[in-house]
Amino acid sequence: MASIFSKIVSGEIPSYKLAEDEHFFAFLDINPIAKGHALVIPKKETDYIFDIEDSELASMILFAKKLAKAIEQVVACNRIGIAVVGLEVPHAHIHLIPINTIYDIDFSKPKLKFEAHEFKALSDAIAAKV
Ligand code: 5GP
Repeated sequence: MASIFSKIVSGEIPSYKLAEDEHFFAFLDINPIAKGHALVIPKKETDYIFDIEDSELASMILFAKKLAKAIEQVVACNRIGIAVVGLEVPHAHIHLIPINTIYDIDFSKPKLKFEAHEFKALSDAIAAKV
């Protein structure tokens, strides 16, 4: 069965898309811990990020780098933090999180709420910078 994230790639489940190429897809996290919190995924479904083949993993990091540079231009922050957890969704993903302090990358804190139009405006602005 396809993962939630594969359904996002196929468009079966909607997302606020940020970028896409032949191998990777990026979109806004629906329960963000920071404004601009994004997820980068490989289109090929692999649960555990460290099971991804070397060259694909290297390319995934470079795709994430490109996206981080775009997020930085839209969301005021000190830098983009990077995290991999993967305990909720069994489809490898990199979290890109705009941060100012160490406390901004705390996954246990309450999630931020945004209206659909706010998510849309943010994703459009980031996508335009990729
Ligand atoms: P993890 O697997 O790294 O622990 O967390 C999975 C992340 O995916 C969470 O931050 C969660 O908010 C996000 N997420 C889960 N389901 C969806 C979804 O359907 N759409 C989007 N955009 N994000 C999701």
